[in-house]
Amino acid sequence: MSKIVLATRNKGKIKEIKELLSTLCPELEVLGLDSFPNIGEIPETGNTFEENALQKARTVCELTGLISLADDSGLVVPAIGGEPGVYSARYSGPDATDEKNNAKLLAKMQNLAEPERYAYFACVMAVCAPDGQTLVAHGKWEGKIAFQPKGEHGFGYDPIFIDKESGRHAAEMTREEKNKISHRAKALKELLKKWTNFYKKIKNKS
Ligand code: IMP
Repeated sequence: MSKIVLATRNKGKIKEIKELLSTLCPELEVLGLDSFPNIGEIPETGNTFEENALQKARTVCELTGLISLADDSGLVVPAIGGEPGVYSARYSGPDATDEKNNAKLLAKMQNLAEPERYAYFACVMAVCAPDGQTLVAHGKWEGKIAFQPKGEHGFGYDPIFIDKESGRHAAEMTREEKNKISHRAKALKELLKKWTNFYKKIKNKS
């Protein structure tokens, strides 16, 4: 049985991707990084989400000898030069928390009115095979940055991100609602569209 390692220890992400991949490729065993306790922190030194996702997928593929899937995501506000971008998780510094990151962004944008409050979440999923072949998929969730946080669900920038379609803050949505429209859901959908062909190519080479 072939195996794929997801370059994450996040149980939610592992569960979601496992369910989706197993319907497409029942012969594929999906593992998380928790099956490889010797693998430590994986560096994320790229300037783009794509560079980071590919870097993580390649590192885990080299360390395990197995096909690997990694994702990288964050929030982009074009009016302030694309911030927080690849620094989304650590935007407010080494002791960053979701609250501090949100407060920093709101302060930075306090004098901006629409349309400068336009923002989007981006997600890139990258797969790397032991023969070096890679597959990349992108997802984008558009909206704007609120003036005040609202909502109790989610994580990260969800309280201050307003979905373009519904006008609701991401943190007002349930996990199921968000999983239908999020940047991660879109990237995964795109990845799955390309998956069958990619898997055929790497199987033919092994
Ligand atoms: P990662 O790709 O899981 O490392 O996410 C990087 C950072 O981007 C997170 O720590 C959050 O600050 C932000 N982020 C990514 N996706 C979301 C989301 O769906 N909601 C809110 N914040 C997010």
